Amino acid sequence: MDAIRIDFNRYPAQTRLFIDLCPLLLGPEITVSEDFRGNGLWMASPGGRRSRKMQKTSPRELAGRLTRKLETRPPPPAVLADLFSKVFDVPAWPGRDADDRMEGIWVDTQMSDFHCLQCGRCCRELEYCHQLLEKDYVNWVEAGRTDILEWVAVHRRCGKIMSFSIWIVPGTLTFAAECPWLRKADIDGIRRCDIHDVRPEICRQYPGTRKHARMTGCSAFSEKPAGNG
Ligand code: SF4
Repeated sequence: MDAIRIDFNRYPAQTRLFIDLCPLLLGPEITVSEDFRGNGLWMASPGGRRSRKMQKTSPRELAGRLTRKLETRPPPPAVLADLFSKVFDVPAWPGRDADDRMEGIWVDTQMSDFHCLQCGRCCRELEYCHQLLEKDYVNWVEAGRTDILEWVAVHRRCGKIMSFSIWIVPGTLTFAAECPWLRKADIDGIRRCDIHDVRPEICRQYPGTRKHARMTGCSAFSEKPAGNG
């Protein structure tokens, strides 16, 4: 459910998807349609022909409503699997865990087809400068990586670490134009990472799903890596 909530808020509003999910989450009696002038959405609430209420809404408000419903009344596994499948465009089905103790859903993530092209697009274009985790920071401190730590700003309140920013040009308050650890392209157009073995978790986790790759311009699922014919 966290994955679905993050997906709803991560990209430009996915209006068509939100409308399609309404019957699953809000029930068949609520219908949502796009304003014919392209100006928001109309939501029709239950009632007879006369008492039926039309309410103006927006894709973001609709996403908030769907998320609240998901959190306050988690759907049964079969519905959750259907929902997951629609949101992430991969097969999902209800089932129990390997120990047969917990009910939930199984997802075929299809991530085994991922082959990074090392184009460096994600390193250059995605917004991740405030997503360093404390464990990344601690790893670098423990490994004595002062060369990396020079590029990290630690935000504290009352002496307590609150958050981090990367990559800040040492001695300034300015973000670097691009990741300082990304090498220039070699002759094959490949861009290597100079801190690959100790890279932050946000870089390790990218892309989280096939959809995440598609929505953020990563071609790793659609093109073969150089040298693979
Ligand atoms: S954008 Fe995709 S293919 Fe390119 S470096 Fe990032 S993960 Fe690899």
